[in-house]
Amino acid sequence: MVCPLCASQRATKLYTLPEGHETRRCDTCAFVFLWPRPTADYLNAYYNSAPVYDLTSDTPSDYEGVVSDKTSLIGRFMARFPRLLTDGQAVDFGAGNGTTVKALERLGFDALGIEISARARTAAQSVFGVTMQDGDLNAMAENSLSFLSLFDVLEHLTEPKAFLELARTRLKDNAACVVGVPNYNSLERMWLGPRSKALIFPEHVNQFTTQTLRRTFEDAGFDVLYIGSPPPYGVAISFGWRRSVGARLGRNALSRVLIQALTWAKRYLVYPLPNLFVEKTGLFGQSLLIVATRSAA
Ligand SMILES: [Zn+2]
Repeated sequence: MVCPLCASQRATKLYTLPEGHETRRCDTCAFVFLWPRPTADYLNAYYNSAPVYDLTSDTPSDYEGVVSDKTSLIGRFMARFPRLLTDGQAVDFGAGNGTTVKALERLGFDALGIEISARARTAAQSVFGVTMQDGDLNAMAENSLSFLSLFDVLEHLTEPKAFLELARTRLKDNAACVVGVPNYNSLERMWLGPRSKALIFPEHVNQFTTQTLRRTFEDAGFDVLYIGSPPPYGVAISFGWRRSVGARLGRNALSRVLIQALTWAKRYLVYPLPNLFVEKTGLFGQSLLIVATRSAA
């Protein structure tokens, strides 16, 4: 067995997963990963049969909250790190229904979404009028990109470091690479284990912590400007509550009231302080966000 990050032969089992798979942690570099690695054929067959994308509406205004969250999140990093490029060609890789592509357009980039699903590409084009295409980064010219984002993508790639090494060659100096992944060190994973978002089987073949996400980028030739769980990527354990309330009480008036009360308590009482803690420490966030630029050769 070989660690996808450092190629070490030694790892420790953490969780038992379906179909003879395990979550393992490398004894050398602490990278956490799915083992055995699924083949490309297996994953393609899985993605072709699974409803992967949440395309619930064809009305642009229904996505306004998501688009404006992404716009302000990325815009804040542009303002915080003034050397980052703010115009030119931007690519959102694994663009799904196109909300990030729309946000990049608003920020002033020439934005392109790369997306493998034809259904998602069609939806993004019709809802937002954004430019979408199939393909990979090999099709882009070297030193051509002013910005690259991947949201909920890197944990799906069986060779994450090789992908970032390729991405590095496509980026210009001072082009931001912005990547969001589930946080392995989340409360939700500690609470739910193999049922958590971080360990979705067989989709999530890599599980990142603050340390291993940083190392993956640095080993691939990037300088890390920021890593953490900024809002809205703070703590999230409501999914577990909701599911356990639903399982115990069923879908009735009492469970609806209870879920509403838990949601209110979460938003106004439970989360504000933990979110500050999460932002400062990098522990327990639902997702990790990293902002990096290619390092000098
Ligand atoms: Zn390793």
